[in-house]
Order: sequence, then structure tokens, then C-alpha cells
Amino acid sequence: MPSLQAQPLRAVVVVIGTGGTIAGAAESATDHVGYRSGAIGADALVAAVPALAGHAIEAETLARLDSCDMDPATWMALRERCAAALARPEVAGVVVTHGTDTLEETAYFLRRTLAAAKPVVLTAAMRPATALSADGPQNLLDAVTLAEWPGARGVLVAFGGQVFAGADLRKVHGWRIDAFSAGDAGVVGVLADGQLRRFRDWPDAPLHPAARSLPEAAAWPVVDVVTSHAGARAEALAALVHAGAQGIVIAGTGNGTVHHTLLHAARQAQAAGVVVRRTSRCLLGGVVGAPPRALPSAGELTPPQARIELMLDLMIGAAVA
Ligand code: ASP
Repeated sequence: MPSLQAQPLRAVVVVIGTGGTIAGAAESATDHVGYRSGAIGADALVAAVPALAGHAIEAETLARLDSCDMDPATWMALRERCAAALARPEVAGVVVTHGTDTLEETAYFLRRTLAAAKPVVLTAAMRPATALSADGPQNLLDAVTLAEWPGARGVLVAFGGQVFAGADLRKVHGWRIDAFSAGDAGVVGVLADGQLRRFRDWPDAPLHPAARSLPEAAAWPVVDVVTSHAGARAEALAALVHAGAQGIVIAGTGNGTVHHTLLHAARQAQAAGVVVRRTSRCLLGGVVGAPPRALPSAGELTPPQARIELMLDLMIGAAVA
């Protein structure tokens, strides 16, 4: 008579591939930059890591993008796939393989819109899968380890042996293998030899209120980023407003200073009902303080993160010009 005892739940990790260098293929093993992003599917990425053989992994390829081409429709599909996986009791966590270029944007979007009581671990690589010493396989193994880690939760990034909170991630180098920083916040922990050393609590910030019912991607508000620099032209900002921008994020100099011509154009845009937020084009630090009459700042957010936040604000009418 077969036992009717309940089977213990298997801790499944769902790996969702979106493309990027981690899934990139080059003509030669020494080529680190001339490759095709997203050429390799998620199942093949998992199969290429022998240490993952004993893990219960379900792999699916959602997209094959170079992440410079990431878009709201893919974000919405990814969020939906993550939520569906997290809702399954047998799933311990989700791993998302992604390009490094917009990793911080996807991590920020998910962290603001996806309830993650279990870990959602994004990972990536600076070298294509075909490189002589590719970094992707170890990063993928670390990401799965983190997704299975008891008690882990929230949107995380596993990269180069470090664990980042999704919102703290910044890409700070264009091609070196240690391309990311957690800025002043520091990393959540480090992963070595399959062991996690955690320095602070799992990220647990509230979701954006817009997350309750996000509009379909085609209906997202239009928000653009303009950079301030020596000799900046008001026409750049004005052209975006003319082209339908409902929000403008200014990537300001230093601690969020803005060239006077852009400032003038920004004030005109505000008067026309466009919401303007001020950030810093510096890689780390964001903007602190609010001098009188300064444009509203997005605090510690990077320009692309501030753009996502402003789109979410505009979706629920929470941003005023
Ligand atoms: N262009 C690639 C991407 O973001 C770069 C990378 O993954 O490292 O998809």
C-alpha cells in the first residue's frame, strides 16, 4: 500500500532568461566585446554549470535582448512571470539572467512593483558565455544559491561574489569585470564557496502604490532624461516636452546643479504641467539637500531610477509639476 504521507516540498528555483552578455556568444574565446547578446537560452545556461546538476531548476527564456533594448513591455512580462513563480509553494525563489547595461533599472522596477517575500535574484555577466574565463557560470551558481537560501527575500542582485539590494545597484564601469557598486549603502553580503556572509538585513522597502494596478506598457507615461553639461541647450529639454514628455528627469552636475539655460527651460516646462525631477549625473551619491527655489530632487536615485519612479508617480497622479 503506497504511503499517503505528504511529500516534502521540493525547493524549485525558476530561472528566467532575458538575454544579455551572460547569454552572449562570440566568434572567439578571447573576444569580450564583439558578441551577440542573448544568443543562448536559459536552459543551456543552466546546463553549462555542472554544479547546478543536483538542483531542482526550471528554466524559461522570456527574451533574448541586449539589455540596452530593455522596454516596459518586457518589464511587465518579467514581473508577471516572477509573480507567477513566487506564488507556487514549491518554488524557493526566482533567478533572472539579464544584461548588465540596464540591470539597475530592471532591479529598481521589480523592487518597486513586485511583492517578493521570497528572493528574486538578478544576475548577469561582463564576459560572454564563450569567453576563456566567463564570469556568468559562477554568477549563475551564486544566484541560484541565493534563491535557495533559507530566509532570503526581496529583489537582490548576485554579481562577482557580492549580493546587492536591487535599489542600491549602480553600474560604474563599462567593461571591467567588477562593474558594479552598491554606493554608500554597501552590499547586503558576499557569497563565497556557496556560503553567504550577510552584513545587513534583506531589503524590505514598501512597494510603490502604482504597483496595485500597473497600466499596460503602451499606456505608461512618457518620461525622458536630459543631461546638464557645459554649454547645455534649452532646446533639448523643450524638444522633449514638444514631443510629448509628461515628465523630465534632469541628470544634473555634481550635487544636482543645473545649467541656467536648462533651468529656464525646466521652469517653462513646469508651467506647462510637465513634472521635473533633479538628479546627479555622478555615479554615486545622488542629490542631498533642497536649496530654496531648486527644482525638486529625486534624492539618492540615479537618473534612470528616478525616471522609473516618476513614471510610477505619474501613473497614479502622485506627481505635481
Ligand atoms: N550590452 C550587454 C547587455 O546589457 C552588456 C552586458 O550584459 O554586460 O545586454
